[in-house]
Amino acid sequence: PVRVRFAPSPTGMFHVGGARSALYNWAVARQSEGGVFVLRIEDTDAARNKPEWIDGIINALAAIGISKDDPAFEGPYFQSQNADRHREAAAQLRDAGRAYYCDCTREELAKRTGSEQLGYDGFCRDRGLAYAEGRALRFRTPDEGETLVKDVVRGDTVFPNKAIEDFVIARGDGSPVFLLANVVDDLDEKVTEVIRGEEHLSNTPKQQLLWEALGATPPVWAHLSVIVNEKRQKLSKRRDKVALEDYLAEGFLPEAMVNYLMLLGWAPGADEEILPFEELQRRFRIEDVNTSPAFFDIKKLTAFNGEYIRALSAEQFLAACAPYLVAPYANWTPEQFDRALFEEIAPLAQTRLAVLSEITANVDFLFLDQPVEDGASWTKAMKPGAAEVLRDAREAYQTTEWAAEPLKQTLLEIGERHGLKLGKAQAPVRVAVTGRTVGLPLFESLEALGRERVLARLDAALV
Ligand code: GLU
Repeated sequence: PVRVRFAPSPTGMFHVGGARSALYNWAVARQSEGGVFVLRIEDTDAARNKPEWIDGIINALAAIGISKDDPAFEGPYFQSQNADRHREAAAQLRDAGRAYYCDCTREELAKRTGSEQLGYDGFCRDRGLAYAEGRALRFRTPDEGETLVKDVVRGDTVFPNKAIEDFVIARGDGSPVFLLANVVDDLDEKVTEVIRGEEHLSNTPKQQLLWEALGATPPVWAHLSVIVNEKRQKLSKRRDKVALEDYLAEGFLPEAMVNYLMLLGWAPGADEEILPFEELQRRFRIEDVNTSPAFFDIKKLTAFNGEYIRALSAEQFLAACAPYLVAPYANWTPEQFDRALFEEIAPLAQTRLAVLSEITANVDFLFLDQPVEDGASWTKAMKPGAAEVLRDAREAYQTTEWAAEPLKQTLLEIGERHGLKLGKAQAPVRVAVTGRTVGLPLFESLEALGRERVLARLDAALV
């Protein structure tokens, strides 16, 4: 059976690129009868790992539907717990003559080769050094032949073996390096297909040689292209918003994230894009993944999210909004919040929101005693005629039947009297009542807020 793995290092928030790799692995595992997705936490870099990042990974995976409870899920395994096997493998290679000790310093090597960039020159290959503190163990790459890396995304690449340097597999203190640990774990976990980011590509011929030297058949490789921002720069956590957790917290629905991430470098075909994961999984073919950089298009993701929000049932929408109706998002107190009022206006919001956290600014006028203060909105709304509109609306709305349609008719007529189209006439009323220049449909908003509160806000605006 197919066995794939996702092998994150717990060194930070969960990157959207990692989420894409995980989803592709997940799709491949679940496509095949008895397929397995192994989660392996690569936690050997003790200086950079933190336990909370491990929980973060597991929670983030669960949020995008990769659940520990699914029969296809295996693990998590921890690289640090396989340390004995890593040492064993290093010793095995050494004892078989496939690796040798080396005491060259970087400076010595640079002096010999005349460059800092060139790989190891094989100086210690045949010196027969025994182990001593400070001596690294180097893998002896074959002098002849070539290594054929079969990559289902990128095609075949041939590396002449003599061009692959004798690389370090264990450090001077005897500890195996990542390159080896990663192979030994994959071997022990019986991984058949390695689907991972392109940044590991340069390791692949070396790792394939290790697989062979350890007497095993190398896996099939699949390297996924980098993800770039709108300036075509590789997404980076210093520059871009990359943490899946941040997107989820802002109110991107997990289903929308999953859908969008699956499309980063792959297309389900037939011009269809918005599809549930089950369908994406069914259509997914790792062979069809693109080699060119994948553009992380936040606008497109946002549009997807809007579609997913609109597809929620009324009840699901209310539940999805719940986190944004309390602190830290909401700036009203729990006493000010009125659930019935919210439910009345929620359908209007559902058709407009792109991101769930926007709900707060859309409905705060209902719960705050005063609308939010926003000078810029006032400046924008107070065009010639606006003051007169406010005054007349204050007057007329004392008696207008309190329902959206008559409220609109009344304002339409007031606008006409002052030479203003409805859109222009609405602007000052909207700012007076909601504090903002944009928001939910105005007349429904007025209806929901009620005559008394609307009149009080118009009064306040007129002084
Ligand atoms: N731990 C590595 C990373 O997070 C993954 C290595 C691999 O997938 O082979 O980049």
